[in-house]
Order: sequence, then structure tokens, then C-alpha cells
Amino acid sequence: MMIEVSSLQKEYGDKLALKGIDFAVADGEVFGFLGPNGAGKTTTLKILAGQLQPTGGQATILGMEVTAQKEAVQLNIGFVPEKTNLYERLTVAQNLQFFCRLYNCKTDNMDEYLHKVNLLKEKNTPVKQLSKGMKQKVLLVRALLHRPKLLFLDEPTSGLDPTSADNMHRILQDINKAGTTIFLTSHNMEEVEKLCHRVAFLNEGRIVAQGSPEELKLQHADRTLRVLLDDGSKEEKVLDMDCKETSTLVSCWLRHGKVRAIHSSEPTLADIFVKVTGRDF
Ligand code: ATP
Repeated sequence: MMIEVSSLQKEYGDKLALKGIDFAVADGEVFGFLGPNGAGKTTTLKILAGQLQPTGGQATILGMEVTAQKEAVQLNIGFVPEKTNLYERLTVAQNLQFFCRLYNCKTDNMDEYLHKVNLLKEKNTPVKQLSKGMKQKVLLVRALLHRPKLLFLDEPTSGLDPTSADNMHRILQDINKAGTTIFLTSHNMEEVEKLCHRVAFLNEGRIVAQGSPEELKLQHADRTLRVLLDDGSKEEKVLDMDCKETSTLVSCWLRHGKVRAIHSSEPTLADIFVKVTGRDF
């Protein structure tokens, strides 16, 4: 397993931000951690990345305990924070070189990654002249320079326009295909649905559902069929899939060429979240 978390807790003073969570992420997966503001996503991410001490439970990465074996863990992970923490007056290359000196890694793959994210031309541009999307890509390159096995991203596309977000998604999919496991937090259900093999919903410090998007949708499907007939009426017939009469009725309509459209109602991840937590986004 790449990540194993059991009964993980975090208290801030008398506030219990994580109330004992359990999950595991396999090697090669893209795993999404979803939840509304204050759910505990960033807290979990920071504990896993060794930036915060848990107050209970256990978390391991590649079998190593994240706090006791912090240095060894750091060599295997990359971290992309939600907020840019680059040196605005330094160029892209200077920022990356600075990071490499700090973490004692080589810069030999810097150009390769800058090319991958289409930023090679901006290598000698001061960071302050870059757009938010470009800065986000610099953060991504910075997190990849030491070729980590696991990449953490906190809200990777928050504040990006749809084209830049799409671009970032493609890059993340490529990185994952090349073998890097990805753990990301997001508010964005579409993003998670597009990128993640498995997801966990976090609410008020607890995991309230987890599985692949497909599994969750099947579990929470309401098994209704909506049929629009070709009889001039605009009203859809709503039928229960598990009712015996439904198949007779639908096959009769189909035989007589009366059906204009049929939809099964599959819930979105956002629908499922509302259902399992009673909270809206
Ligand atoms: P967001 O989507 O807004 O980033 P989140 O799911 O990442 O939210 P966290 O930042 O992990 O949530 O916060 C979880 C809870 O812990 C919140 O109630 C928050 O107010 C509280 N919290 C976070 N950091 C601290 C801190 N340093 N001191 C006290 N409470 C904190």
C-alpha cells in the first residue's frame, strides 16, 4: 500500500478536527479527498506530508510512519500547496534551483518537466509576471523534481479558469500514467470524477463514504427510469426499475415506436454527498 491511515485523529486545542479516520491508497491510484470547508482535508494532507503531528492513530506511507520516519517519507513525496509560496521576484529557474539546494536534489530534470507543463519559455521569467495557472504549474514542477513516488495536491485547480484547469488535469493524468500515485483534495466534484480512481467524502472530521465514483453511484442510484413518449406530451413518465410492470410497459412502448427518449437517473457525486451528509456544497 502507498498510504495506510487508521483511527487518525487531530485536535486543535479543544476542537477535534479529525475524529478517527481510516482509509488506504494503493500504489498507482489517483485518490480524491472531498469535503466542504472545514471538513479536515488540509489537516489530513498536512499530517501525511509530515507538516503536522497527529494527536492519535497512525498514518504510514510505503510502510513508514509519517512522523517517526519523516525524513525517509519526505524523499518519496511531493507536495503542491493550495496557496502559492514561490519567491515572486525570483525567476522560475531560480525558484526551482533554490528548492533543489534546500532538498539536496539535482536539477537535471528541470527542463524536462518545464517542457511537460509548457513553461520552458518562461524559465527565466520572474514568477510575479506569471498567471495563477502558470504559478500552479511551477509548484507542480517543484514538487516533482526529486521524482517522488507519491504526489499530494491541495485543491490543485482552485481559482483557475476552465482551460487552465483542463490543462492541469491532463498533466496530472500523464504523471499518474507514468507511475506516480496521486492524492488530492478538492471541492470540485467534476474534477474528482474525471481524475480519481477512488474517493473519500469527509464531513466534520469523519469519512462518511468511500469507493470508486462508479461504485458510489451504483450504491446510491435511485433506480428510476424516465421515459419521454412520442405522443406530443412533454411530461416524462417516471418508472421504478425494480417493478415488474416497468419492463412490460417499456417494451410495449418501444415495440410501437412510441419512445422519444429513455434516461436512467444516475446520481452525481454532489448528489451523493448531499445524501450522505445532509450538507450542501
Ligand atoms: P477548506 O476546504 O476550507 O480548506 P478543510 O477541509 O481543508 O477546509 P481544515 O483546514 O483541515 O479543513 O480544518 C478542519 C477544522 O480544523 C476546521 O474546523 C478548522 O477551523 C480547524 N483548524 C484548522 N487548522 C487549525 C489551527 N491551526 N488551529 C485551530 N483550528 C484549526
